[in-house]
Amino acid sequence: MTTETRSTCPYCGVGCGVVIASRDGQITGVRGDPEHPANFGRLCTKGSTLHLTATPEVTRQTRLLQPMQRAARGAAPQPLGWDAALDSAAARFASVITAHGPDAVGFYLSGQLLTEDYYVFNKLAKGLIGTNNLDTNSRLCMSSAVAGYKQTLGADAPPTCYDDLQHTECLFIVGSNTAWAHPILFRRIEDAKRANPALQIVVVDPRRTDTCEIADLHLALLPGTDVMLFHGMLHLMLREGWTQPAYIAAHTSGFDALAALVRECTPERVAAVCGIAQDALLQATRLFATSPATLSLYCMGMNQSSSGTAKNAALINLHLATAQIGRHGAGPFSLTGQPNAMGGREVGGLSNLLPAHRDLANAAHRAEVAAFWGVEQIPAQPGKSAIEMFEAAADGEIRALWIACTNPAQSMPDQATVRRALQRAEFVVVQEAFAGTATCAFADLLLPATTWGEKEGTVTNSERRISRVRAAVPPSGMARHDWHIAADFACRLAERLGRGAALFPYTTPESVWNEHRETTRGRDLDITGMDYAMLEAAPQQWPLPAGATQGRPRLYEDGRFATTDGRARFVAAPYQAVAEPRDDHYPFSLNTGRLRDQWHGMSRTGTLGRLFGHVPEPVVQMHAQDMARHRLADGDLVHVSSRRGSIVVPVVASADLGASQAFIAMHWGPEYLGGRSSTGMALAGVNALTTPQHCPVSKQPELKHTAVKILKA
Ligand code: SF4
Repeated sequence: MTTETRSTCPYCGVGCGVVIASRDGQITGVRGDPEHPANFGRLCTKGSTLHLTATPEVTRQTRLLQPMQRAARGAAPQPLGWDAALDSAAARFASVITAHGPDAVGFYLSGQLLTEDYYVFNKLAKGLIGTNNLDTNSRLCMSSAVAGYKQTLGADAPPTCYDDLQHTECLFIVGSNTAWAHPILFRRIEDAKRANPALQIVVVDPRRTDTCEIADLHLALLPGTDVMLFHGMLHLMLREGWTQPAYIAAHTSGFDALAALVRECTPERVAAVCGIAQDALLQATRLFATSPATLSLYCMGMNQSSSGTAKNAALINLHLATAQIGRHGAGPFSLTGQPNAMGGREVGGLSNLLPAHRDLANAAHRAEVAAFWGVEQIPAQPGKSAIEMFEAAADGEIRALWIACTNPAQSMPDQATVRRALQRAEFVVVQEAFAGTATCAFADLLLPATTWGEKEGTVTNSERRISRVRAAVPPSGMARHDWHIAADFACRLAERLGRGAALFPYTTPESVWNEHRETTRGRDLDITGMDYAMLEAAPQQWPLPAGATQGRPRLYEDGRFATTDGRARFVAAPYQAVAEPRDDHYPFSLNTGRLRDQWHGMSRTGTLGRLFGHVPEPVVQMHAQDMARHRLADGDLVHVSSRRGSIVVPVVASADLGASQAFIAMHWGPEYLGGRSSTGMALAGVNALTTPQHCPVSKQPELKHTAVKILKA
């Protein structure tokens, strides 16, 4: 008999509800959940083929099905039991911690993990071991958005919701190919445009993406010049009298310094720096400022930047200056890349955070968390962010790494450093559902984890909505749930360290979530009015404190912000060019991004031939004039080289890019796109080229701009 189980899509931050069909312990189908408020039954190509990635035939070939251990690097891994595997891991971690201190170990996690998984790992690192070296691939995804919200509005909380698409009159999309990266949200944008043809849509993106097809205006700005654009827009708003002085006076602080800063961002200068026409700048500014309701949507083009925080803050400045916030259809709305980057932040799953949006740098917050967990203290020593963690491992400072549900040997920038780190570390644990990721090749110990269709827990999507993830079938092989692996390891480590034996009493994901819920009491994301039973009935948005019957779709409607004085803060950050400008040696700006039908390193989507129909192979896209100048024809193989490495890939002409720009999709791994570091180390994928330079505030790397040269192979 076929059983139906409601769950959530594991791919992007839209957070679509799915209904999984299963029979005899096998997943047999999937359809969109018509009652889920993120998608109302719709699914994109990735979501609608999820069941095909979980057939026994695919699982046998792709999944890690039992713990495995390597006697030496490069040796074939050998199977072992769970007890032996976790005892071995606990012994090696205890040995490193005892000999070199807690900061000699690090945990690198994933926005694909469920909130419950994240919570246990965070408590393990910061509560039991006493290191803040816990970071996640959300650092590569959302950390600039987090920092931007906190600097301006006072809290890491998108103040808007998907319903606002139906109320907005001006949609300002920046650095987001929503049509491909968040397809079901894009369907809602199309619906909104159909229902209200007067809706004006502005797309700001160096590339002419599919999202531009719906735009009334496309500003193809030069890569990395967003801050200059936004400052120039504010300059024009002030000149034209389009700001809202009464709102600024009543609800904000810091405007005078910003107004002084943007005085020099004249239309002439902005047009020259951003490479756009002055009349287009004026048109975009008028639409933003004078529309009855302006909603901005933004994503990796804003975040993956050496000035990512400044970009986020500069855009939010515009919302505050024009009072386009706290109303239906108005506000700054960051789109989450991964399915649970938001949930990870809620439990403090970054090296600078603590549970329930507390800050590690805040002594009172550290004391609160220590008291809640019943540990002596949370160390004040800042943890290492993703880039710093792998650099520290490459330098020998971090000696043991635990990597869960992510593939840094493909997805992190500056692959040569990441691979040096994985080679030099004394002990590398990889906790994974999929056996063939590039990172698995570096593991001393491989731990099989459950994945979509097998897991229970929760995720939070872009609009602060918490949904249940449910198991439709039993775990494959010997795979265990991520929270369970972390908690079991923690208990064994506690025994060896002689402390913290009672910290991990969990028996179910719900018991973990209930503890997490208590940490939120009185915080901006208070969910003490929620429980699993309520989430069984329907997904819920936070905050939802005790006594409330539903969450809040919009924040700051009363004009009070999450700062100490209740006022939003303007941020006057000057424009800075990309970290690695192109020059005579490296004359092209390389951009990276998603394809419509692939996800991350393709460990799941890469198992389905039909998902290669849209884009079948890796290519580098270039402007036709650049190709003509370099005597290149479509399909020619070229070396694309940066200061760090080189890959060989076919080239194709694209009318979507400006001159001196190039684009390669991020998904292609070692099977598709081989390369070499500048010292001859074998590398793979576009991250052989990308730079580790990052935003000084958010520590998010500049994956959207690398200076490269392109030469015929
Ligand atoms: Fe899944 Fe995102 Fe597609 Fe929705 S839009 S089905 S969450 S990949």
